[in-house]
Amino acid sequence: MKIAENLQKFQIELKGTKAKLIAVSKTKPNETILEAYNIGWKRFGENKVQELVSKHDALPKDIEWHLIGTLQSNKVKYIAPFVYLIHAVDKEKLLKEINKRAEQNDRIINCLLQIHIADEDTKFGFTYEEAENLLQNNIEQYKNVKILGLMGMATNTDNHTQVRQEFKALKTFFDKIKSELNTENIDFQELSMGMSGDYKIAIEEGSTMIRVGSAIFGARNYQK
Ligand SMILES: *Cc1c(COP(=O)(O)O)cnc(C)c1O
Repeated sequence: MKIAENLQKFQIELKGTKAKLIAVSKTKPNETILEAYNIGWKRFGENKVQELVSKHDALPKDIEWHLIGTLQSNKVKYIAPFVYLIHAVDKEKLLKEINKRAEQNDRIINCLLQIHIADEDTKFGFTYEEAENLLQNNIEQYKNVKILGLMGMATNTDNHTQVRQEFKALKTFFDKIKSELNTENIDFQELSMGMSGDYKIAIEEGSTMIRVGSAIFGARNYQK
């Protein structure tokens, strides 16, 4: 895979849009990440805590690490000292633990709430109602987290109309929360949606962060 070329292609494609690219390096070795880093790339996403921690330990410290996968509460402590953004907060219990570990590390941890937008049981996340309720009534106690926005994964389907509809609904909800709620720890700026297969639609529907792996680094040998 020509990583530099692919990254450059994305940079050109994203010019004039609101979207930033998170290079999803899961399953890829440190040398692959360094190849991207050495041409100036600093923003990477991983979906497993153990892999994220060992890459963080081994690689340059100015890399901005995004945890994009499902996170178990008992593993928050391992990433709390350094993670830049947790994309998939899907339970209040998890948020509570992130807040606790952030406080212990004397930092504020950026989070996105994952919304279940797909027509599939296998994807995680809050319903719109649950997320709204949490944001309206229960968020202020978590002083060491900052909710920067939302994340959603569309249904894995060739039906572009459906994917677009799911992204559009998420953007509508994002705009509503952004206009209604602005507190110390709610600062809606980021809408993380779009992967290799659907990022073009996601950008058209207002994504600010696309999480792209295989379109940059090639197919993975094993799936998450
Ligand atoms: C793996 C993964 C991606 C990137 O997937 P690609 O199809 O390789 O672009 C994006 N988001 C999440 C949550 C992932 O686990």
